[in-house]
Amino acid sequence: MGGEELDFVKDAFEKNWIAPVGPHISDFEKELSNISENYNVAAVSSGTSAIHLALLLLSVQPGDEVICSTFTFAASANPIKYIGATPVFVDSENETWNMCPKMLEKAITDRINNHKKPKAIIIVHLYGMPANIDEIVKIANNYSIPIIEDAAEALGSKYFDQQLGTFGVFGVYSFNGNKIITTSSGGALLSKQINLIDKAKFLATQARDEAPHYQHSNIGYNYRMSNVCASIGLGQIKVLKERVNRKRYINDYYKKKLAHIPFISFLEERKFCKSNFWLTTIVLSAESTIDKEKFRLFMEKNNIEVRPLWKPMHLQPIYKDSPSYINGVSEDLFNRGLCLPSGTNMKIHDLERVIKCINHLYEI
Ligand SMILES: *Cc1c(COP(=O)(O)O)cnc(C)c1O
Repeated sequence: MGGEELDFVKDAFEKNWIAPVGPHISDFEKELSNISENYNVAAVSSGTSAIHLALLLLSVQPGDEVICSTFTFAASANPIKYIGATPVFVDSENETWNMCPKMLEKAITDRINNHKKPKAIIIVHLYGMPANIDEIVKIANNYSIPIIEDAAEALGSKYFDQQLGTFGVFGVYSFNGNKIITTSSGGALLSKQINLIDKAKFLATQARDEAPHYQHSNIGYNYRMSNVCASIGLGQIKVLKERVNRKRYINDYYKKKLAHIPFISFLEERKFCKSNFWLTTIVLSAESTIDKEKFRLFMEKNNIEVRPLWKPMHLQPIYKDSPSYINGVSEDLFNRGLCLPSGTNMKIHDLERVIKCINHLYEI
């Protein structure tokens, strides 16, 4: 926590706003809007529910197809299944690890030739790294397919000085406990179009019509953020900049201190992009005699947790039969890539312990 969260929580308690309604929710939405090009924001219960709402608001129907990055966490794709639609997975490019524009265009034209135009494209900014937005937006516009930006891991990341999540029809943030800032659990849906966000808030609060009694002409959801969670968010948003700076410092520290090991490479940001480096990720070169599992186990023996990169969706048992447009990039990253400990509360001596252990592993 940053320090001021408990004051906001106390305020919520004192005013007795212990519900999924209350002033801290709209205050938190305003704060998020301030850092997101003044877009309209709906604070919701999770990033997953925000993606579900985005799909509902784009009128995705059972049997429709939705394109999604394959290299991601399952929550990017699962809401497609909630609707009874079919995810179509698209592989990554080497440069950003995110959706490859060439593969995207291939997927769109192939689906159209299959008599099924995709209803939406979910692009993910994995590990906080901005995707190839210009190219992807151009392609999506050419075919008039709306974009949902899954920026769950990318709050504080920028593309030409513009916050990620503001390039598509919808953007999604997550405030789950593992993200760069947290409300314990929570998320946000954002859009330039206020009518879409108003509708999202309506659907997220059980879709109650205006009437003195409880009347419903739509299926609603219980997806609104709790006022207590929003009060935590008000404290957390104050330290977002500091957290991003620290994540970037940690990434830079690892990069400099591990530069002498030729078998390790890092995911680098392009000049006009700024990643929040939510996690510092490495790839072991094909020439490395130590594979990713040997690396992980050695670190684990030394009480340091190192995790494999996300396992691509097209390789997941649940999604193995989904249509996929694959070039081998995400599978290769999964086979050779790892996340290093990246917590913002790590001290220099913690980072040095990780680095020393990696040096031992390579006997340097
Ligand atoms: C965390 C995450 C989500 C889901 O967010 P929740 O708030 O945990 O539901 C979606 N996509 C990605 C890429 C994530 O990392």
